Amino acid sequence: MHSIKPLPNIKDLSLDALREKFAGMGLPRYRADQVFQGLYRRGIEHFDEMTDLSVELRERLTSSFATVSLNCVEVFHSEDGTVKAVLQAHDAARIEAVLIPEPERTTLCVSTQVGCPLECDFCATGKMGFVRNLTTAEIVDQVFRMRALLDGERQITNLVFMGMGEPLLNLPNVIEALRIFLDPKGFAYGPRRITISTSGVVPKIRELLDAAPVNLAVSLHATTDEVRDVLVPLNRRFPLALLLGELRALMRQELVSKRHPVFFEYTLLADVNDSEADAHRLLQLLRGIPSKINVIPVNPHAGSIYRPPSEDAIHRFMGVLARARMPVTLRRSRGADIAAACGQLAQQKIHSQKDSPKTVKQAAQAADATIDTHEVCEK
Ligand code: SF4
Repeated sequence: MHSIKPLPNIKDLSLDALREKFAGMGLPRYRADQVFQGLYRRGIEHFDEMTDLSVELRERLTSSFATVSLNCVEVFHSEDGTVKAVLQAHDAARIEAVLIPEPERTTLCVSTQVGCPLECDFCATGKMGFVRNLTTAEIVDQVFRMRALLDGERQITNLVFMGMGEPLLNLPNVIEALRIFLDPKGFAYGPRRITISTSGVVPKIRELLDAAPVNLAVSLHATTDEVRDVLVPLNRRFPLALLLGELRALMRQELVSKRHPVFFEYTLLADVNDSEADAHRLLQLLRGIPSKINVIPVNPHAGSIYRPPSEDAIHRFMGVLARARMPVTLRRSRGADIAAACGQLAQQKIHSQKDSPKTVKQAAQAADATIDTHEVCEK
């Protein structure tokens, strides 16, 4: 386990910020570049191992900056290859990160907050409440801690911000982390290898895409405000029409385009949002927006009232979308045997009761009754 010092963490700083910091310390710009590349291109986390620096400078940096913000405290290996880890910060706050190895890629799902304030009804993290935002260093450190768990030559090829927390509610730290991930002297990820997922914090979407041209994923999960108000309470503040209207506006400015569509996440919940009527409404809602839909049968967690739909229901829902030539992918939850969906390990410890199943099912039934009149609306 690494020791953690109460010093400013160097991984909080993008290259520009590090150059500025070094200038204030009387150090030349090229030294900042050298240290930045040492950290992210060569993966050296301790100054005393940066042997291209003088001993004096190594000692000065060691006494000025911390380099590690998270320790790995528990690791779970799924039979399907998924690896989930519990990572702990200096204040004992715990978060989760998940590695998803596939033949062509290895994706890391990172967290951006400890807990989450948005309380989505089907989400284990939402049941924990909100503790605090992660620092930039804590977001970046997830890559360091998790890649140490990979076999052999495997590298993390893709990052998805779909772990604990709502990234757009921690935007300054997320953007600074993106600068480090995207910088050619940093991790040098291509922007299309990074996906940021939001539940629909409408005023922050443009700010994100202006700062970094990464993929945008929107957690939609429902086709009416009635149902989405329950599943994703943020919808009461930023309803579907507002959200979809903003995406259409971004399209006009080419921040969203056919080459760079929006990924819509749709968690399928039995008898709540899985009807053919929902699928038709979804098509109506997304009309004109370059879209790809990921349909994810819910991975039920302890205390949840939600269950995955039958295979038949999944097939019918997918069929409606596929017949309309909507790009759609069925994503099965990975790592079910290690509770790999966001917040589920924490949820095993923090258990709470929520609404009766009737609440949201009634909303779903009411919505189905209005399918013909509910025209346009759009996470
Ligand atoms: S689904 Fe995402 S935004 Fe909603 S409560 Fe869970 S972590 Fe937060």
